Amino acid sequence: MECRTEGAPWASRKIPISPRGVYRKISHVSATIPKTMRAVVYRGVNDLRLEEVPVPRIKSSELLVRVGICGVCPTDIKKIHFGTQSPPRIYGHETAGTIVRVGSRVQGWTVGDRVGLHHHVPCLDCHFCRHQTFAQCETYKKTGITAGFEPAGGGYAEYVRVMDFCLPGVVKIPAKNTLEEGAMLEPVNTVLKGIRALSLLKGDTVWVAGAGPIGLLFIGMLSELGMRVVATDLMESRRQLARRWGAWKALDGADPNLVDLLRALTRSRGVDAAAVCVPVDAVVAQAQAALRGGGTTLLFAHTLRGKTAPVDLGTVCVDEKGLMGSYSSDFTLQKEVARWVFSRRLDVRNLITHRFPLAETAAAVALAARPSEDSLKILVEASSTQIAGGTAL
Ligand SMILES: [Zn+2]
Ligand SMILES: [Zn+2]
Repeated sequence: MECRTEGAPWASRKIPISPRGVYRKISHVSATIPKTMRAVVYRGVNDLRLEEVPVPRIKSSELLVRVGICGVCPTDIKKIHFGTQSPPRIYGHETAGTIVRVGSRVQGWTVGDRVGLHHHVPCLDCHFCRHQTFAQCETYKKTGITAGFEPAGGGYAEYVRVMDFCLPGVVKIPAKNTLEEGAMLEPVNTVLKGIRALSLLKGDTVWVAGAGPIGLLFIGMLSELGMRVVATDLMESRRQLARRWGAWKALDGADPNLVDLLRALTRSRGVDAAAVCVPVDAVVAQAQAALRGGGTTLLFAHTLRGKTAPVDLGTVCVDEKGLMGSYSSDFTLQKEVARWVFSRRLDVRNLITHRFPLAETAAAVALAARPSEDSLKILVEASSTQIAGGTAL
């Protein structure tokens, strides 16, 4: 069954809205939902166009969310710049907004709830999920949030449809928090997942290569967890930021003696782990050289397939230096991530430097692809009105 998405409030009806089975009579529509909306459609390599498209129709097991904010993510930039997926699609997956329609069979959500979304949710039941490699699960690989066309996140649009298998990835934003914080849940989750994979002990020394938005999240969380963080970046402004986010040391990533410096900071033992948050192959070799025996290099930014780089395999076998990757989010960390963000133990608001209106999404993506001295996390604002919870953006 499909719910109508168009038209003025079309009759109140009784639907189950709470997991406790309480039935309340509510209006099915919070505001007039138009038939069409603005969306930024990917039409080919580096070709993003503002278009008028139908507002998605939802099924009775789905939600319709009016998008407030969507973060610009490097993986979107990759898809737009390299054309790794076929057009047309509507990208944007770091999405937060307000529920405007609840399918009649959906429980636990109500019109007006402010929510952060996850566009990938694992089945928790398959071989990959049993091995906790959720990002390899077939269900997880499906994108369950769309603004139309082949599902691709849809955050660069005014409304998104949340499919039933992505409902477990909907997180309520507390009244005291902003939509921006809701939009940061997904990237923070990916970082915490990466940190977990490193099996660190308190007091360990971790090299974070690259102090952009993701690098700073690593620095902030690692230092909060009691690690000594050595950050590197080519930009002095970002090295200063790295210190402000808790880095113990912040070094110039271009220093030719970088590996020696890193080893010297650990009395020659080598760093316990390296989080490579820049897609630079030379840094991987540096990381392997800077690690202690049994340490781990985590690849976080090498998201393009087909790239090869020489690795001294003896460092992996004899020195037991791990070389691993981490990609996307971990569903089981959702609650913990919400606590980090909403309690502001990790104040992600400090990361946001630019907001672009939806019509200027292409400019937002261009800036995120070529960051300036003063740019960090860049957001697209799909709408700045009709946001419940009293939060004006
Ligand atoms: Zn992302
Ligand atoms: Zn699975």
